[in-house]
Amino acid sequence: MDKCDLSSLSKRISGPSSLAWDVGDVASKRMLAGEDIIHLGIGDPDLDTPLPIQEALFEAIKSGKTHYAPLAGEMTLRSAIADHASLLYGSAVQAESVIVCNGAQGALFTTFLCLTEQGDEIIVLEPCYATYPAVVTAGGGKMVTVILEKSDDYQLNLAKIKASVTERTKAILINSPSNPSGTVFDQQTLVELACFCNERSIWLVSDEVYWALCFDGPHTSAYRVEQCRNSTIVINSLSKSHAMTGWRLGWAIGPPHFIEAMTDLAQASQFGVNQFVQTAAITALKDQQTIEKSKNLFISRRDALCDGLRLSNHLGFSTPRGGMFVLLDISCTGLSGKEFAEQLLETENVAVVPGFGFGQSVKNTVRIGFLCDEERLKIASQRIVRFAESKVNKITE
Ligand code: PMP
Repeated sequence: MDKCDLSSLSKRISGPSSLAWDVGDVASKRMLAGEDIIHLGIGDPDLDTPLPIQEALFEAIKSGKTHYAPLAGEMTLRSAIADHASLLYGSAVQAESVIVCNGAQGALFTTFLCLTEQGDEIIVLEPCYATYPAVVTAGGGKMVTVILEKSDDYQLNLAKIKASVTERTKAILINSPSNPSGTVFDQQTLVELACFCNERSIWLVSDEVYWALCFDGPHTSAYRVEQCRNSTIVINSLSKSHAMTGWRLGWAIGPPHFIEAMTDLAQASQFGVNQFVQTAAITALKDQQTIEKSKNLFISRRDALCDGLRLSNHLGFSTPRGGMFVLLDISCTGLSGKEFAEQLLETENVAVVPGFGFGQSVKNTVRIGFLCDEERLKIASQRIVRFAESKVNKITE
């Protein structure tokens, strides 16, 4: 018998971006076999979830929080997220505007299923987080790419975005602080984009998972524009702010009809989020100390990595203003990002992500996470520079 066939959806979501993790997977396998590899490839730092949050989880289990939770989330957690959002965005957010999801990834996936009609155009800014193409196409959308310029530090380019809008544009997906570029979008431009979307009845979906890691100033967000909140959706989580990647606790914030649709979808898909995880998440949201500590830690890590990379005469990058990653231009080596990442792992035991996962326009880059301690980051940067310079010298010999 022939193989039983799969849906066209399964084929649509297995695009090139899903191959970007291959180098990291090889590195992980070699690490499991006992090899000493500096893995800077997955956005999952070496930090443990703070003890009070762990203890809150044990307590929640012991006190019987082991049942189905309400589909949109425990009201206590939705209120805590709303309070947190009110502070972050500078004006009141109601608990009813929040739905708890399985990580920001779960929130992104279900958001696009709720928004998109077959063939709707979704504008995505490149370089973009590697799962966006699959998220958009899984929802039935057609991805329209707007390329942000390296010379502009990958800042929002309103003129380009506006020029890409058609009558089929359903949503614009943005991410700040950005994975992979480390850009933090300027608040004034975000205001203009939120207003433009609102006027044109286009959804603006703002992925803010690195909200706690803005290095140079306060968090910026389109959701600050109160009069545009009926067309703006925030995607967020505790993964990066509290070293909780494995907990899978995220949320979306949006207008009532969106939350209702997300709740219906939650019934059909996940049937809610773990009750004990939700209970512990309230402790995390109140833990301001961890947020401050982790921001300072990532600034030191960024500096350790960037200082090391600056010792190269040829490699190009912008110092990240937020997040956990440096996007390194390796064109000088004559290699593609894929070749660079594969050979770097082979010869120097450092794992990074090839740029093609974030879009064709950055295929000659690699993404490096500042995800381990400063000492190892210094060693990693020395190895990256040594490897890159050896390739440049070959070209010029
Ligand atoms: N969006 C971006 C930009 C990310 O970098 C990530 C995680 N790497 C996610 C969403 C998903 O985050 P979560 O762990 O909350 O699902």
